[in-house]
Amino acid sequence: MNYQPYLTEEHEQFRQKVRNFIQTEVAPNISDWEEAGEFPLDVLKRMGDLGLLGLRYPKEIGGESADYFKVMVFAEELNKCGAGGFPMAVAVQTDMATPPIYKFGTAYHHETFLTPAIRGEKLASLGISEPNHGSDVSSIQTRAVRDGDEWVINGSKMYITNGPRADFVTLVTRTSDEPGYKGISLFLVETDREGFSISRKLDKLGMRSSDTAELMLEDVRVPHKNLLGTEGRGFYQIMWQLQSERMIAAASAIGLMDYCFSIAQLYIEENQLEEDEQVMNVLTDIVCEIEVCREMTYSVAYRYANGEVPSKEISMVKLTTAQAAHKVADIVLDLIGEEACDIDHPIQRIWRDSRLNRIGAGTDEVMKEIISKEIGL
Ligand SMILES: Cc1cc2nc3c(=O)[nH]c(=O)nc-3n(C[C@H](O)[C@H](O)[C@H](O)COP(=O)(O)OP(=O)(O)OC[C@H]3O[C@@H](n4cnc5c(N)ncnc54)[C@H](O)[C@@H]3O)c2cc1C
Repeated sequence: MNYQPYLTEEHEQFRQKVRNFIQTEVAPNISDWEEAGEFPLDVLKRMGDLGLLGLRYPKEIGGESADYFKVMVFAEELNKCGAGGFPMAVAVQTDMATPPIYKFGTAYHHETFLTPAIRGEKLASLGISEPNHGSDVSSIQTRAVRDGDEWVINGSKMYITNGPRADFVTLVTRTSDEPGYKGISLFLVETDREGFSISRKLDKLGMRSSDTAELMLEDVRVPHKNLLGTEGRGFYQIMWQLQSERMIAAASAIGLMDYCFSIAQLYIEENQLEEDEQVMNVLTDIVCEIEVCREMTYSVAYRYANGEVPSKEISMVKLTTAQAAHKVADIVLDLIGEEACDIDHPIQRIWRDSRLNRIGAGTDEVMKEIISKEIGL
C-alpha cells in the first residue's frame, strides 16, 4: 500500500534495514528469550552500533537526527519479531525513559545517561508506577528529601520494565508535602547506589522477553545534579513524556497487527484456503482494522512531528490501536484454531502480549477519561 505523504522512499529503505536486522538477529531467537524471561544485553549494544537506539536524538549527542516517521517505522518493524516483550523493552530505552533526559536534561545528564543509552551501553528504565499507585500519577508516594547537596530517596516502584538489569531509572518522586500533582520531581538514579535494590523480578502473563521488577529505594542518596528538569515540575514533565509513549504504543500496535496478518496469510496459503469466502472475509476485516488505525495514527504522528501535541487524538489512537491489536490477534487465533494455542505459536504470544498494550502507557479506561474530558463529556 502507498502511505504517502507520510512515508517516502527513504522511510521504506530504512524499514528494510530494520526488517533485515529483526528477521536475522531477533526473530530466530525470540522464543528462547521468551523462555529466559529476558533478552541478552549484547543485542542492545548491537542495536546501538547500528544507530537504532537514538533515532530521535541529535547527532551531536550520538543520535541520528532522524525524522519522526523513522521512529514510527522502527516501532512497527520491531513489533514483527514474534513477541511484544522485546520491542517494549527497547521502546522503554528509546522512547520512554530517555525523551525527558533529552528534553529537560543538562549536558551532564546527556553525557552520563543519554549518550550511553543511545550507544546501547547503558540500559534505561522508567519508574512511575508504585505498588498502590498506577493510573493516578499524582498520588505517588516515593519521596525525596533535600540534604545539602544531595537528595535522600525512599519508596518503591512497581512493574518497572528493564528494572532487573537497568543501569539507571528515570524516577518520578515527590519532593515536597504539597498534595497531588504539585511537588513532584524527576531524578536520574543509578541502580548501583547504596540502598537501591530489586525486591523481586515479576512473572507476567505476557511480554515475557522483557524483564520487569519491583524496585526498592531505602535512603538512596543522589547528588542534586541528578535532579532532572525543574524541581516541582515533574508531573508536567512526565505527562509530556506519556504523550510520546502513547504515540510509540500506537505504532507498536500497528506493527503487531501487520505481523498477525502475515501469519494469517501464511496459514491460508499453507492450507490452500484462498477460495474459502468466509476466510477471505476474515482477512478483509483484519485489513480494514489495520488500515483505519494506521491512517489515523500517521495523521496524528504527522501533527506530533510538526510540534503539536494533540493529546485527545493521541489518546484516541493509543486506545483504538491497542484494542484493535488485541482483537486482531484474537481473530487470527480463532482462524488458526488449536495450532495457534500451542505455547510455541507466535499468535498465542501476541494475543497475551497485546492485552498488556491496553494497560501500559495508560489503561483503556484512562484513555477514555482523557478523551471524554477533552470533548466535554
Ligand atoms: C507489561 C507492563 C509493563 C509496565 N512497565 C512499566 C514501566 O516500565 N514503568 C512504570 O512506571 N510502569 C510500568 N507499568 C505499569 C503500568 O503503567 C500500570 O500498570 C498502569 O499505569 C495501570 O496502573 P495499575 O496497574 O496500578 O492499575 P490501577 O491504576 O490500579 O487501575 C486498576 C483498574 O482501574 C481502572 N482505573 C484506574 N483509574 C481510573 C479512572 N480514573 N477511571 C476509570 N477507570 C480507572 C484502570 O483502567 C484499571 O482497569 C507496566 C505495566 C505492564 C502491564
